[in-house]
Amino acid sequence: MKNDMNAPGHPDDRKNTMDLPELGTSLLNRVPPRLLSTAERYLKSIPLLRNRLAKETDSMLAGLEGDLKPYRGKLPTYDKLPAKGLARQEVLREMGQMEEKEEDRWRDGLVSGAVYHGDSEHIDFLNRVYAINSQSNPLHADLWPSATKFEAEVVAMTANMLGAAEANAGRAPEEHICGSVSSGGTESIMLAMKTYRDWAHETKGITRPEMVAPSSAHPAFDKAAHYFGIKMVRVPVGEDYRADVKATRKAINRNTIVLIGSAPGFPHGVIDPIEELSELARKRGIGFHTDCCLGGFVLPWARRLGYPVPAFDFRLPGVTSMSADTHKFGYAAKGSSVVLYRGTELRSHQYYTATEWPGGIYFSPTFSGSRPGALIASAWAALVSTGEEGYLDATKRILETAATIKRGIRAIPDLHVLGEPLFVIAFGSNTLDIYKVMERMSAKGWSLNGLHKPAAVHLCVTQRHTQPGVAERFLEDLKAAVEHVRANPGEKGTMAPVYGMAGTVPFRGLISDLLKKYMDLIYKV
Ligand SMILES: *Cc1c(COP(=O)(O)O)cnc(C)c1O
Repeated sequence: MKNDMNAPGHPDDRKNTMDLPELGTSLLNRVPPRLLSTAERYLKSIPLLRNRLAKETDSMLAGLEGDLKPYRGKLPTYDKLPAKGLARQEVLREMGQMEEKEEDRWRDGLVSGAVYHGDSEHIDFLNRVYAINSQSNPLHADLWPSATKFEAEVVAMTANMLGAAEANAGRAPEEHICGSVSSGGTESIMLAMKTYRDWAHETKGITRPEMVAPSSAHPAFDKAAHYFGIKMVRVPVGEDYRADVKATRKAINRNTIVLIGSAPGFPHGVIDPIEELSELARKRGIGFHTDCCLGGFVLPWARRLGYPVPAFDFRLPGVTSMSADTHKFGYAAKGSSVVLYRGTELRSHQYYTATEWPGGIYFSPTFSGSRPGALIASAWAALVSTGEEGYLDATKRILETAATIKRGIRAIPDLHVLGEPLFVIAFGSNTLDIYKVMERMSAKGWSLNGLHKPAAVHLCVTQRHTQPGVAERFLEDLKAAVEHVRANPGEKGTMAPVYGMAGTVPFRGLISDLLKKYMDLIYKV
């Protein structure tokens, strides 16, 4: 729930909340899910109830609208093209006003994840790189051989960092680690899953493909399953929040095309047992994808620095694909990621070609046709300008800051850290409503991620948090927030009940409908 209801700032502005936790949810949670969704469809077909629900959601969303649209009435609104184009100076001035309002929180390190580097010289540099390459489009390889060079080298550098040298040693070139640059982690994951679907269809005749993923794996895998007609089989994680190898083995069947593991997973920042999982896959002759979107540009350096990092990359023979986000800890501008495969045969199932179109022969390696060459250039520039030394230094600072924060959280009574994380630190409480703690933190300007199942909150530590004093301020504010919530058990909170509800209401379709309405709100001018 990061890009949506975490909208912080003015919790007092929101008067409308739903009291759904009072609907006897604990009892309903014991009913089998399939029965529940039937019951839910039935209940929603009753007009009176449907209207009541619609009213509840509408009033709740109305309460969120102000936070989502703070510029209404303050800056000009354009719901149709201006008759005459605005002066460029005017456009820049309006944007500048918004930038000024928005940049403080992420610059000061009050935000979980989101901006991974953020030093102004680095940003200025990436902006110049964009400016030089803004017209570039790798779809026209003849016009911009520079884009082709950048993409090939970003893939090669990332592969090398993730064990390609060892994996390639003594092997034929077509078995080497290869890949593509995509628009982000989600596209990398979706490309890989489509690739396995087509690979399994062509080489094994599988027409009803399934993938097996731990409950913690990113929703991009569900999205891929949904888009490409693959059945998603989710397996609960163990007590340590890592993927359960035994349960995964049991979930495999004749139609399974790929197993998933994360290094680390987004919710709790823990690394799945990639070695065991990938061996399972190898023995069954199916694919294994390590989702390294978050950790790809951290773990290799953490290992070099002597942190205990279990094997997770192409050094493991069962790992057949990986995703690593240049636009996270690779420190590139937003809009790039790398997907990697073991061997060009596997990657060829990602490609698309059209040979009969009157527009000429056509090919496209990823989902987009035209692609932003400038963002690939930005990834290349971030990689070559940072270098091994830069990544080692950044990783060292991030992990030391994360260790301070972890230690600090463990020292706060009522709080506990979930699992054994490196740099994404999830914490919960057995005694307090953790969402109320998060709400108190929001009031102090912190934008943290609310997790559920179980209820928890996390902070993804980035370079922003390595600035002097940020970790100390976080811990002080957190301690005060916990003390406040402990001292005021009756205080209801405004967003806290919404989070509580989102995690516990057994009618999941309700939550989904609510999120869709929220997206409608995003598109309102
Ligand atoms: C961020 C993330 C993704 C998805 O990446 P996007 O760039 O947001 O599309 C996938 N997996 C993990 C573990 C991530 O942290």
